[in-house]
Amino acid sequence: MELWEDISKKVGDAASKVGRGAEKLTDIAKLKYNLTVRQGKLEKQFEAIGRLHYEELTSEADNTEVIAEIVSETEALKGEIAELREKLDDLTGAAHCAKCGVRIPRGSAFCPSCGEKQPEE
Ligand SMILES: [Zn+2]
Repeated sequence: MELWEDISKKVGDAASKVGRGAEKLTDIAKLKYNLTVRQGKLEKQFEAIGRLHYEELTSEADNTEVIAEIVSETEALKGEIAELREKLDDLTGAAHCAKCGVRIPRGSAFCPSCGEKQPEE
């Protein structure tokens, strides 16, 4: 019966490994989705700021307060995006070039895109 126990243990281990892998994948998918949603929102806010500013330039409208409100929301959104990116990098083992910001594997000595030497971690 020892052999059977051994086999069933191995199967169980493999299954839980697959389970963890799938969990990681859904986390990555969720993060990517949340990032996309927030990036879409960010674009809409920039668009709104532009429209409100245009309105000011072409009419008597004073949108200073509304613009300031949207700008502070935009700053918060950018913070959330940076946080999500960091979590995503942790899960995918990615880092960003210190100079050009391109995604590179964590622990890279040089950036494959711009050649910049990366700071040691
Ligand atoms: Zn670079």
